[in-house]
Amino acid sequence: MAISLKMDEPKPRYSNPIELRAYVFNMTLYSHDRERLNDPNDYPCFYCGGKGKVRKPEDRCPIEGYKGAPWHNCGKCNGSGKLHPAEYEPIVEDELNDFRQKMRKYELLKNQLEDILHRIDEIDIEFLLENVRVVPDSAVSDSKPK
Ligand SMILES: [Zn+2]
Repeated sequence: MAISLKMDEPKPRYSNPIELRAYVFNMTLYSHDRERLNDPNDYPCFYCGGKGKVRKPEDRCPIEGYKGAPWHNCGKCNGSGKLHPAEYEPIVEDELNDFRQKMRKYELLKNQLEDILHRIDEIDIEFLLENVRVVPDSAVSDSKPK
């Protein structure tokens, strides 16, 4: 039985403004707004979820929350619900920097995995796969009563 152990390679959630635009549409806009996706110049504002309106924390009622609270024009898009594509670029750059950092860590871990695989043989691996469940320390300590 041939065994290969693989680690999930990191992937950026988006690597350019067009991919970020699709991501924002998926994350923030409700189905009735999805026709906006057909307008290639519509880059939804990610501060207000493309609505153009935001709630303000000072309007929040401790009992009823935002029920009945007024909507305010979003300060980032001035109530339009849209941003200029250039405003997407720093967000994309942050994601790519984060991705590069994850890739460096991934490469280190991949090398570590290769080292481990050189020290154990296939029988060891089969034994581990059949009999052992990997549980992170944090999951173990979280389940203990306090
Ligand atoms: Zn906005």
